[in-house]
Amino acid sequence: MFYELFLTVEKRSGSQLYAKCPLHPDTNASFTINEDTGEWFCHGCAQGGKEPEFISAYFGVSHQVALAAYKSYEQRGHLPFPTEDYTDVLKAVIMPK
Ligand SMILES: [Zn+2]
Repeated sequence: MFYELFLTVEKRSGSQLYAKCPLHPDTNASFTINEDTGEWFCHGCAQGGKEPEFISAYFGVSHQVALAAYKSYEQRGHLPFPTEDYTDVLKAVIMPK
């Protein structure tokens, strides 16, 4: 599961997963993920969305770069961050030759 690159799932209730939020100092597993839809929400820092919104918040990149990075993850099985240049990601995924 994509989010497990960044966190450890601590609790599961049906398709709802709970983890400590990687976006703020968290002690209570405030971060919830719907395993079926990929949607997440943090009850501590009140952020949420899907995978690209998480990438944007985690790495501090624009939504466009985050979308490209997630497409790249889906195609190649790993994220380009932090080792590859953002502009290369955009070129490879959004603007193929
Ligand atoms: Zn949070």
